[in-house]
Amino acid sequence: MDQIKIGKFISLKRNEKNITQSELAEKLNITDRAISKWENGVCLPDANNMPDLCKILDITINDLFSGEVVDMKDNEKKLEQNLLEMAIIKEQRDKELLSIEIFIGVIVSIIMLACVFIASFVNMQDWLRVALIILGIIPFAIGICYAIRIEQIAGYYECNNCHYKYVPTYKKVLFSTHINRTRKIKCPKCHKKNWHKKVITK
Ligand SMILES: [Zn+2]
Repeated sequence: MDQIKIGKFISLKRNEKNITQSELAEKLNITDRAISKWENGVCLPDANNMPDLCKILDITINDLFSGEVVDMKDNEKKLEQNLLEMAIIKEQRDKELLSIEIFIGVIVSIIMLACVFIASFVNMQDWLRVALIILGIIPFAIGICYAIRIEQIAGYYECNNCHYKYVPTYKKVLFSTHINRTRKIKCPKCHKKNWHKKVITK
């Protein structure tokens, strides 16, 4: 997906409609800065702005992703290509997210272990020991909750019984027994409780 091309296309269509950046921003209930970012190819519009944006500019979502008005005869081919590219972008993002999960887990574990180690072996008053352990546990608890949130939304879990791939709720992921990222969850499709492994692609 060519962000620069898409940006230029948004700008072109907006000018054709005689709408200023601020007018468009107002219609979409977002800032002018966001519009300017799209048009300069810095980022793509959020998915929730896309339908309204397309309506205002009188284009299809497929046109938007292609950065041009797609000929009807090429429509299906372009659509497939855009969907594939979107899937690749999501895969890359999910892989990055899962690396961040590991990073957070390692950092908060090191902090906690260091606090516990110091509290156990260094001479200090008892209240200070307790305070130090609490100080280590708080970032650990917050960090792990955050890491699990990342794990929940990145990629999918696959049921090893029916091979259904899905995104479970945060609560289900948080309270499930797990070995690394493989978690024991009740499958929403076959309703069997078994081990579901993390997969990136659907
Ligand atoms: Zn299943």
